[in-house]
Amino acid sequence: MKVIMLGAPGAGKGTQAKKIAAKYHVPHISTGDIFRANIKNGTELGKKAKTYMDQGLLVPDELVVDLVVDRVNQEDCVDGYVLDGFPRTIPQAEALDKALAALGQKVDYAINVEVPDENIVTRMGGRRACVGCGATYHLEYAPTKKEGICDACGRELILRDDDKPETVTKRLNVYHEQTQPLIDYYTQAGILKEVDGTVDIEEVFRAITVILGE
Ligand code: ADP
Ligand code: AMP
Repeated sequence: MKVIMLGAPGAGKGTQAKKIAAKYHVPHISTGDIFRANIKNGTELGKKAKTYMDQGLLVPDELVVDLVVDRVNQEDCVDGYVLDGFPRTIPQAEALDKALAALGQKVDYAINVEVPDENIVTRMGGRRACVGCGATYHLEYAPTKKEGICDACGRELILRDDDKPETVTKRLNVYHEQTQPLIDYYTQAGILKEVDGTVDIEEVFRAITVILGE
């Protein structure tokens, strides 16, 4: 099962992708997580990516595509995967389709988690990420058991630099210009599925399991 998560930044792609990965036993591949791990480890890729991420811009396609194509060719991906945050541009989607076609494969579902821009600002302002394992929470909608402390690893939580209000507005504009056209792209491919992302986390997931099968 090869699934792509679409939606604005903060729509809940990562939250749902983790649940899909756990239920359907496929790896969760988040390009944002891969970049953040590279930044943390001080790699060349991380240094390059950070300059774009801090400004709310997309990392150039050439830094993303090969990385994802290599990743989906790894052995743990034979039964599928859930891609979170990729593709984010039409050229990325085309490159993915081309790489998969060369292997006689294709994406099965592109799930668009729909959340209006007004809700996104609250979502991102309340998102907290763990400095250790990268797990994400929300102050109001997905709180930790102990305030400010990660449930999974016990480290502290922070507001991501790119979740600050001024950067969120920029990221939303970038989303509308560069990523939203993918909705048409996957509609034309006949694999687009829409879910309402404004309802609570479990309800969104129920709608996704109806699409993917129980
Ligand atoms: P994305 O991966 O699309 O950027 P996240 O999954 O990180 O988004 O979700 C953004 C924030 O909103 C997180 O703090 C998350 O806990 C919270 N969140 C996710 N889904 C919902 C939901 N259905 N209702 C309320 N809050 C949500
Ligand atoms: P995310 O965690 O998915 O919100 O991603 C955080 C940031 O990483 C984005 O705002 C981009 O700067 C960068 N990024 C993640 N995935 C991609 C991608 N597929 N293409 C370009 N930039 C990306």
